Amino acid sequence: MADSDQIAIATAEGCWLTTTTGQRLFDGVASLWCNVHGHRHPKMNAAIREQLDRVAHITTLGMSADITDLLAERLVAITPGDLSHVFFSSDGSSGVEAALKMALQYWHQRAAATGATSPSPKTRYLALSSAYHGDTTGAVSLGGIKYFHQLFAPIVFTPVRGPLPCSYRLPEGVRPETACDHYADEIETLLKQHHGELAAVVMEPLVQGAAGLITHPAGLLARVRELCDRYEVLMIVDEVATGFGRTGRMFACDHEGVTPDILCLGKGITGGYLPMAATVARPHVYEAFLGDSSERKQLYHGHTFGGNPLAAAAAIASLDLFAETQLVASIDRKAEVLRSSLDRIANHPHVGDMRGRGLMVGIELVEDRDSKTPFPSERLLGRKVCERATELGAWVRPLGDVVVMIPPLVANDEELQFLGSTVSRAIEEVL
Ligand code: PLP
Repeated sequence: MADSDQIAIATAEGCWLTTTTGQRLFDGVASLWCNVHGHRHPKMNAAIREQLDRVAHITTLGMSADITDLLAERLVAITPGDLSHVFFSSDGSSGVEAALKMALQYWHQRAAATGATSPSPKTRYLALSSAYHGDTTGAVSLGGIKYFHQLFAPIVFTPVRGPLPCSYRLPEGVRPETACDHYADEIETLLKQHHGELAAVVMEPLVQGAAGLITHPAGLLARVRELCDRYEVLMIVDEVATGFGRTGRMFACDHEGVTPDILCLGKGITGGYLPMAATVARPHVYEAFLGDSSERKQLYHGHTFGGNPLAAAAAIASLDLFAETQLVASIDRKAEVLRSSLDRIANHPHVGDMRGRGLMVGIELVEDRDSKTPFPSERLLGRKVCERATELGAWVRPLGDVVVMIPPLVANDEELQFLGSTVSRAIEEVL
């Protein structure tokens, strides 16, 4: 049963949703940041139907589906550097959980193999402030939402907490040109102190989505990569939100030439059609898990629906469409179209910041633009702006006072202009 204030959707096509009362809404959040090629794309639908006529589901315990194996090969071919082995699960949070276990078990098994202190003391993680990595308990533990840490205290762990590498509100004395060094130095200080107990640094690359599209200074991801190498800590990059073209490259890591030790993918992996996630590891990580069964080195993690063939078929169809349409190459230009359609509110007294990367754009509403002072939270202005935009035909959702625009990547210029001008109008009317 739907809540009374929930909008019930009956059908969808392309970038548009139709409610049960017949209103057409532009899907300005890409159905929670995952829709890539639009809804009911004929090639996506056909691929899923065809797979349904072959096999809907089998276990990946002791067997594999040919289509899922093919997908693994395709992912290895497009993910950065020498990422080479894919572990499938069913949603972004589970993909992150798999990465956490992989990192921990890696150090445990490496210690046993090299005669180092065993069990390995490398059992903790460094995560950034305001991070979001999902809602399962390991992912919540990494997450920087204080309320969740209090509420779920008995079942979450406390990571080493890094800075929030925000480009908009810089710490006192830090200038935009020195911001990358500043945050990298803070992370290095923590690594110096904790590297002996750290299994991995975990971070969202370039843009911290759920934190409010907090945009990191350029170069930080590459600096963290160097630091992880220097302090012998694995680097886990969570591209659940940024992966699959969202930031203007196939993966956000590609902007800075970074290859993490473990990469988490989800959301857009199936074009947003079916649930699936992938945790992709480099050879040195994978090799730590090899051995005969008596050695008990296999990754102790598995989901019933991991690697589901229908989801794999959707993912392959999505990758084919990426190739056919050269979609990733079009994202920077589309982002420019969306940004230009927001020009008229760029100097609005309550628009503090417009930020993001590619087709991941946020507008932070502030009480005072010069001092960057936020509105008191009870005013719920982000929500009011989004409600007004929805009345005007564009479905968008806020993160606090950040109005978020994450449309399907396939949105055309006219649709992006509609999204931008509708949000602009909603901001002008509400503020
Ligand atoms: N990681 C990041 C960066 C996310 O943005 C999200 C979801 O928004 C997740 C993980 C969790 O993914 P899921 O909701 O599919 O479990």
